[in-house]
Amino acid sequence: MTAHKPLLLLDVDGPLNPFAAKPHRRPEGYSTHRMKPDTWIAQHVGVPERLVKPLRVWLNPSHGAALQELPFELVWATTWEHDANEWIGWRIGLPREENLPVIEFGSQFVQRSDGTYVKTWRVVEYAAGRPFAWVDDQIGDIDREYVAKHHDGPALLHWIDPARGLTADDFALLADWAAALTPKEDTDGHRP
Ligand SMILES: [Mg+2]
Repeated sequence: MTAHKPLLLLDVDGPLNPFAAKPHRRPEGYSTHRMKPDTWIAQHVGVPERLVKPLRVWLNPSHGAALQELPFELVWATTWEHDANEWIGWRIGLPREENLPVIEFGSQFVQRSDGTYVKTWRVVEYAAGRPFAWVDDQIGDIDREYVAKHHDGPALLHWIDPARGLTADDFALLADWAAALTPKEDTDGHRP
């Protein structure tokens, strides 16, 4: 069976970088990185690059393997955009030579009048009806309602606590969700 796998849309800050954890206590299993990606420098308008304070990012080097074991096609859905391939992916153990696809938000990353999260409409557009799960710390019921109305296919919007990041329970939930999507063939190989 060669049907497309569902998409797993990955936010960085929150799910992979539990930035809201207590600042003086690095979460267990995480390493501390200090970095100055282009998107971070761009937020410091008028500040010379050398004076921009590096961004502290906590990353868990086991997350890459855990994500790759899931039956999904991985896609970045983060304001880091292409910086996620350059700065994040390989540090969590994803293969350095294989960039993940990136949902570009660019100048469209603006507040929405309907109250949905800024990424939501673009995520629906990108998925184009394909089943997807989305892990993010800034999604809620209003986004679920929007997706139910505008996305013609299965979707899971799974909120992640930015003080904890992705946990084993989250990985199990994602695996279960994907497994429930797969139509099962009977044991003789016949399809119903
Ligand atoms: Mg986030």
